[in-house]
Amino acid sequence: MSSTTNSCDFCGKEIKEVKKIFSSETAHICDECITMCSKVLDKEIIQESKKEFQKGLNVPIKIKEHLDEYVIGQDDAKKVLAVALYNHYKRIDKPIVKNVELEKSNIMLIGPTGSGKTLLAKSLAKIMDVPFAVADATALTEAGYVGEDVESILSRLLAAADFDLEKAKRGIVYIDEIDKIANKSESATSGRDVSGEGVQQGLLKILEGADVYVPVKGSRKNSTAETVLFDTTHVLFICGGAFVGLRKDKEKEKSSVMGFVNSDEIQVEKKDIEAKELISFGLIPEFIGRIPVIAELNKLSKEDLIKVLTEPKNAITKQYEILFELDGVDLEFNKESLDEIAEIAVEKDVGARGLRGIIEKYMLPLQYTIPSEDNLGTCVITKEYIENKAEVELIYKKPSTKKASKKINYNDIKK
Ligand code: ADP
Repeated sequence: MSSTTNSCDFCGKEIKEVKKIFSSETAHICDECITMCSKVLDKEIIQESKKEFQKGLNVPIKIKEHLDEYVIGQDDAKKVLAVALYNHYKRIDKPIVKNVELEKSNIMLIGPTGSGKTLLAKSLAKIMDVPFAVADATALTEAGYVGEDVESILSRLLAAADFDLEKAKRGIVYIDEIDKIANKSESATSGRDVSGEGVQQGLLKILEGADVYVPVKGSRKNSTAETVLFDTTHVLFICGGAFVGLRKDKEKEKSSVMGFVNSDEIQVEKKDIEAKELISFGLIPEFIGRIPVIAELNKLSKEDLIKVLTEPKNAITKQYEILFELDGVDLEFNKESLDEIAEIAVEKDVGARGLRGIIEKYMLPLQYTIPSEDNLGTCVITKEYIENKAEVELIYKKPSTKKASKKINYNDIKK
């Protein structure tokens, strides 16, 4: 039932200033106020559903599924990471439950170069939508020495968070080549390598969680050497290294116990790497104590490498297909060519990291030629082209009587 009124009870506008006023017996509201309330409600609904979505995303099985979109294989490492990440964000939500303090679960990734350690860490950050920074342990030095100090890692994280300190505090840091700062004193070859141990000591504080003064580098707003107080309690640190020799020793130990040296069977019997082995490798116990989660990555097989080429969301071949599409060319890698590219990577022992370099070399002559051509339709990369035994054929969309295609030799570019 409406009563006659001249103005809205919410904004005070009069009937002639708005399109309509809705009235009950006691209150009146104009169309503009209704629209505004509706917008606020919509926004809240979106926020709620986003929260729900994030909640669903955070469970380990979902995290693993998302990692599968970016990273091939490494199932065990993915599961360990998914659980560690789940616990990490649970802990951020509730650091203390029933007087029990939930401790941070920093992670150690052990695996050969090019097996996906950095990619896993980066993908985790992407999935969780948190800032991500990579640091190289070999570039770090003890305080007071020439080189990057430990705080520089946090400066980088801050920059990755667009200098939003609150965001940076929930970020993920990947410290690469952590095996290179192992204390070599246990190896019989040389004397004590104190610098590695010094860096480990330096890292202890930030790994565990502490207030650290961090220089704000790279911000246009902060061109002078300004510092901010950075609490690292909620930063997740993922350390990675190849730890060459560790696995070999383990296999030797296993094969002598089992009395056989069949590598396949050893693979099946693979034992987990334990903290004490990392300590004998030269990481100090206090350091390892702050990285309680250890995950191991395998060397990628040829089949894995073929998948790396084609399956991840931003797989290299997909990227080239898009680049060529922008020039109007349908690019295709036939199965045998992918097999050959993976084979080269296996022979060179470069892991997935080397794949881009290998492909790039073969794509260069094509990328050089194609932009100046009209009327090109398709181009299939063959095994023979990769082997440098045949030219690659660019097929014209509308073949003329004279020509149906153009051939490109891999060596053309060098002439
Ligand atoms: P690592 O840190 O183990 O040395 P990276 O993660 O830096 O190796 O890998 C280098 C590149 O190789 C990545 O950017 C990615 O393109 C590719 N790559 C490595 N491992 C994988 C994998 N398991 N799945 C998909 N791509 C991979």
